[in-house]
Amino acid sequence: MGQPLRCRVHPADKPLRLCYRSGMTSDPNCLFCRIIRGEIPSKKIYEDEHVFAFDDINAQAPTHVLVIPKRHFPGLKEAERSDAEIIGRCHLAAAMIARQRKIENGYRTVVNVGPGAGQSVFHLHVHLLGGRQLSWPPG
Ligand code: AMP
Ligand code: ZN
Repeated sequence: MGQPLRCRVHPADKPLRLCYRSGMTSDPNCLFCRIIRGEIPSKKIYEDEHVFAFDDINAQAPTHVLVIPKRHFPGLKEAERSDAEIIGRCHLAAAMIARQRKIENGYRTVVNVGPGAGQSVFHLHVHLLGGRQLSWPPG
């Protein structure tokens, strides 16, 4: 990891760090960045160049997996046009995991946006929930 640096688009944001091997940004204090870096243990389900998926520590369904971009950004609210691909990749990874788990009869992908919707970790994540009957509307 290199020296802290400021985002060129959002210089007022807290500093990020750039990994010189991958060229990706990582927030030293972000829980999910720390999971990606292996500083905090997780049950890894899937990983590729762009995304990382692991079991939610407080599962709300038999399958409750979090899919996150390896590059730090806080959430959907902060997303920009250039983030379209990574947001799609997170959802595609969730669909692939659901296929592997044979829960395609009914599963849900959820992105909580902002504290009012229950977002508690400010590194974008897609919840993949399935393996039980899911009611609607959600709470
Ligand atoms: P949200 O409330 O939408 O921001 O989702 C954050 C999720 O992260 C919650 O469902 C938590 O249970 C989960 N979580 C928090 N800490 C960990 C951790 N160390 N490992 C796995 N999942 C976690
Ligand atoms: Zn992060």
